[in-house]
Amino acid sequence: MGPSAARLLLVWLLAARVWAQPQHFVPRDQWGSQPQPMPTNLQHVPQRIVLHHSGVLWKEGDDPFLKIRALQLWGQREKHWPDLPYHFLIDPQGQVFEGRELRYRPDSNTEYDLNGVINVELWGNFDEQKVTPQALDATVQLLAWLRDQHGLEVLSTHRSQAPGQTSCPGEDLFRYFESGRLAPVKR
Ligand SMILES: [Zn+2]
Repeated sequence: MGPSAARLLLVWLLAARVWAQPQHFVPRDQWGSQPQPMPTNLQHVPQRIVLHHSGVLWKEGDDPFLKIRALQLWGQREKHWPDLPYHFLIDPQGQVFEGRELRYRPDSNTEYDLNGVINVELWGNFDEQKVTPQALDATVQLLAWLRDQHGLEVLSTHRSQAPGQTSCPGEDLFRYFESGRLAPVKR
């Protein structure tokens, strides 16, 4: 963890302030989101945050604006998912992209209970590369905001939710969760 992330984590744990939106927030209309109509049976009450990685190596020069649009289109065409399978997506520079609306549960390639799940994905393959300090900072800011604005105080990971089905969110992101360094704190 870089010094900046460590500082933010500490702030997150200790500060009495109520967290606003993450610093580098990209609302759906800014990246050109085009969700299909959402079926009412996907409505849920958000209860817990589940961390993911994309599982694809992030390369120098990759464009998150192209990637997020491609993911939304791919899901709609290939998987019949009306919108992104994630509610928030974070790039290595620490930009937080707004995905599926919180009031709809996500979709998944694996079998687990998706009711109440809020999916947060970091781009990269963290079995093979490191989470950047900027992405970690953004994750901490997002978790604090979700806690303060939406009352979400439970954090999990994809592999914890779907044991034996995936290594997601990859070793280098999982270790922050496993060690308790990335953990929600009740206020
Ligand atoms: Zn996952």
